[in-house]
Amino acid sequence: MKAIRLIKSGSLLETQEIAIPPIGLCDVLIQITAAGICHSDVHYRAGVSPVEPLPLTLGHEVAGIVEKVGADVKGFTVGDRVCVHYLVTCAQCLSCQAGTEQFCPAAEMIGKHRDGGYAEFIVVPERNVFRLPDEIPFEQGAILMCSSATSLHALNKARLRSCETVAIFGVGGLGISALQLAEHFGAAEVFAVDINPRKLELAERFGAIPVDASVGNPVARIRELTGGRGVDVALELVGLPVTMRQAVQFVAILGRAALVCLTRETFEIASYSELLNKEAEIIGVSDHLASEIPLLLDLARTAKLDLSQDIIRTVPLEVSAVNRALDRLEEFGDDLRVVITP
Ligand SMILES: [Zn+2]
Ligand SMILES: [Zn+2]
Repeated sequence: MKAIRLIKSGSLLETQEIAIPPIGLCDVLIQITAAGICHSDVHYRAGVSPVEPLPLTLGHEVAGIVEKVGADVKGFTVGDRVCVHYLVTCAQCLSCQAGTEQFCPAAEMIGKHRDGGYAEFIVVPERNVFRLPDEIPFEQGAILMCSSATSLHALNKARLRSCETVAIFGVGGLGISALQLAEHFGAAEVFAVDINPRKLELAERFGAIPVDASVGNPVARIRELTGGRGVDVALELVGLPVTMRQAVQFVAILGRAALVCLTRETFEIASYSELLNKEAEIIGVSDHLASEIPLLLDLARTAKLDLSQDIIRTVPLEVSAVNRALDRLEEFGDDLRVVITP
């Protein structure tokens, strides 16, 4: 089968012909119909976040059709529409038993530690497979499994309650899901902070209050918009030290700043005025949980989470198109979400 793979860290992806992987008793072979290209893949290609073993097929946002099932697979049959939870875990260790499987010491992420979705087929254990409702197109099913799932996990970690206010930093693929999910949580007001006018306009279409961070100081602007109070929850979805600090500065008394996106750099805060004095919290967010996926699929099925509007651009399973899409993500271009549709 055709696969687009990272051969050497820091180099462009390349096309390789590889064998369709064999399936074990509890595995499912999926014919891939959609694979999301994620900002994390930019870090993997660049070597900022190590990928091993190489060569490896990238892509952790996968949806498709069941092609074949192992002898012990009970829940799926050939032809089922499915999407894939990207973390393959042992299901037995203390973290897995506690439902915090992202800390499983044996965890392997598809598209980072084992072959992923930039290919025609993928094999995953049955417990990683979720039925994709007919109402959800494959492209949306793919991106639900990363950006939307991470946004939901971030809001859960930030303990957002109804009638609270939220600021979302960065209206990318995560941000668009986050602001709709915040509304589902019953948020009183959702502020969307970005510097890209097109993204701000889209956020406004989803009912958020846009805050253009390229004009003036966004912290002062949020204070002004909230009567000097700040917000209860700030989600940092950019991954820059400056926006991480702003997220902490944005929060009100007893506010929670959830940091989701990656940087290797450190960031500063004024410990007394920005944190202690407010009893504010800084919360780290890593991945998401399999247990969060059913709610997400249900919200998408009933169009409460709408990923249809100008959010997804599709490209073929073709190496130059995929590398170009990664380049554009690296430059923080206009693309919200790019999905490979083989
Ligand atoms: Zn992703
Ligand atoms: Zn485990």
